Amino acid sequence: MTDEIVAIRALSRNFGSTVALGDVTLSVVRGTVFGLVGENGAGKTTLIKHVLGLYRAEQGQVSVFGLDPVGDPAGVLGRIGYLSEDRDLPEWMRVGELMSYTRAFYPGWDDRLARDLLEMFELDTGRKVRTLSRGQRARAGLLVAVAHRPELLLLDEPSSGLDPGARMDILAAIVRTVADEGRTVLLSSHLLHEVQRVADRVAMLHRGQLLLNEPLDDLLARHRALTIRFATAPTAPPSWPGALGWTGQGVEWTCLCNGEGTSCKQFAEEAGAEVVEERAPSLEEIFLACTRKEASGSKPS
Ligand code: ATP
Repeated sequence: MTDEIVAIRALSRNFGSTVALGDVTLSVVRGTVFGLVGENGAGKTTLIKHVLGLYRAEQGQVSVFGLDPVGDPAGVLGRIGYLSEDRDLPEWMRVGELMSYTRAFYPGWDDRLARDLLEMFELDTGRKVRTLSRGQRARAGLLVAVAHRPELLLLDEPSSGLDPGARMDILAAIVRTVADEGRTVLLSSHLLHEVQRVADRVAMLHRGQLLLNEPLDDLLARHRALTIRFATAPTAPPSWPGALGWTGQGVEWTCLCNGEGTSCKQFAEEAGAEVVEERAPSLEEIFLACTRKEASGSKPS
């Protein structure tokens, strides 16, 4: 039994002149939470649709559980739980009907888990799907995606529509439970702080290109954020080697550095500037620095 649940090799997809995916290679390994991050239009949904077999790979290969999701949809889809970005649920069903309808497709449906989720999400089985709020619809979609205990849970922007207070607790609990049970989660989001809470590995898409793909802990450990106070306000932040990006204004700027930040500290000293704070950056800071650097034409290292 392979541990590579999703294998994507050199996958490209164009829509007219838009490169939705350009030569993307990645693996999602059993028992992990894989966070796919990127701005709107980065290619996340297009990648997920290939995993589901909704798109055939025109260039490159996609396999899921070692199978071709287009050639063997029954073998693949029965083992996947999917929450789509559009939450496309049958509008005319009541929540209870949606549950029994979905249950009929999946032998692994767990009634107890379904009931627990129903309670946790405070959903009313008698309500029609079309009368649900966006947040309730997201919860109902999540319930039917999870309750059959899929081997692979695919969540496309799962927290959109959920209110901030509830969404992360709910999502984090579900995602971690799934992964702790040795099952696998592929989750797309542009909410980086949420991905940082749950992901083991992060892949960053930018205009269809894979900018980064590595364990979250490694990614965080190989960057530093240094806040630097200059003696006089620079007209523009300096372009020091190792400085991936800058934010700030006036005399105080924060530099997102590669590695230990030692070269930046040295440059600061030589420039007569003071390092006032040194800390671990967030995934969001790294993402913004990488995408801005990419947009300005140079690859992140
Ligand atoms: P979002 O976070 O906004 O959902 P995304 O990262 O999921 O974005 P995709 O939906 O995969 O991005 O889209 C990637 C690019 O491909 C975008 O430029 C989008 O406009 C384009 N695209 C996606 N699907 C189609 C389609 N069916 N026809 C034409 N262009 C498409």
